[in-house]
Amino acid sequence: MPTYRFREIKHQASKNLPCPVCGKKLRRQRTFGQTLNPFNKNADGQVKTELEIVRELNATAAEWEQQPEPHPNCQQQAAS
Ligand SMILES: [Zn+2]
Repeated sequence: MPTYRFREIKHQASKNLPCPVCGKKLRRQRTFGQTLNPFNKNADGQVKTELEIVRELNATAAEWEQQPEPHPNCQQQAAS
């Protein structure tokens, strides 16, 4: 059985925002990705095109880039 590999479209995002707990800047990097395949469909039930996926990834990444995150240590202190 051959293995079909679907191409994954990726978008690398990074942000540099102040931690809400200590106020020091926190740098984060994250890669958002979606696979271009016959099962990845949009709201209309059509297979997503590469352009659609790129647009979605851009929107998701832009939203994520605007959300401040606390350092893991700061988060623990805030919880206790
Ligand atoms: Zn912090």
